[in-house]
Amino acid sequence: MKDLLLQVIREESTWSGRYLILPEKDQLSTSIPDLDAVRSAMGDCRRCPLCQTRKNLVFGEGSAQASLMFIGEAPGAVEDDTGRVFVGPAGQLLTSIIENGMGLKRSQVYIANILKCRPPGNRDPLPEEVEQCIGFLESQIDTVRPKVIVTLGRVATQNLLKTSTPISRLRGIFTEYMGIAVMPTYHPSYLLQNPSKKRDVWEDIKKVMKYLQISRPDQPGT
Ligand code: URA
Repeated sequence: MKDLLLQVIREESTWSGRYLILPEKDQLSTSIPDLDAVRSAMGDCRRCPLCQTRKNLVFGEGSAQASLMFIGEAPGAVEDDTGRVFVGPAGQLLTSIIENGMGLKRSQVYIANILKCRPPGNRDPLPEEVEQCIGFLESQIDTVRPKVIVTLGRVATQNLLKTSTPISRLRGIFTEYMGIAVMPTYHPSYLLQNPSKKRDVWEDIKKVMKYLQISRPDQPGT
């Protein structure tokens, strides 16, 4: 994305005395990808059978300039009803991790899922559903270009990183995807069932905060 911007600036800007005249966005010959364009490309997606059972396509939300991106599995019932990502019980826990744990606003990060439509009964995504959908997530990642991605749970982690290694072995260890640091951790739904694992997630989140140099206002420098 940065390379593309630099190329556009080089090719389509002119110098006027001391000032660099940048072209208007709609005069650019090269289109700069943005999240609206990715959403438009999805349209009323009918690429897999989940379109027949979904109520709403859940694209994702947050800041297009976010340094931090969270990736979950697929919409649940509340997300399917509302069209908004991570707003059900697991979403409330994720929001609390972001806001109370990290001291950020939810609107400062970007949140998306591997699948944009709810699998019936919240079953695991099928490989063919992931295959049809994951390109849109990749475009979202490529557009936002966060510094860190936190993958939430087995399904998100294994599908993004294209691995079958168990989440219990991947979590807590930084890895890399498209040149972006990735921190796998447990899914908030799993934490609702296994509250004792919250401690592990907090350790993982603290590593992310250190990497991003985020310190909570009440704990400067920790
Ligand atoms: N679980 C997910 O993985 N994603 C959501 O958006 C909600 C619950």
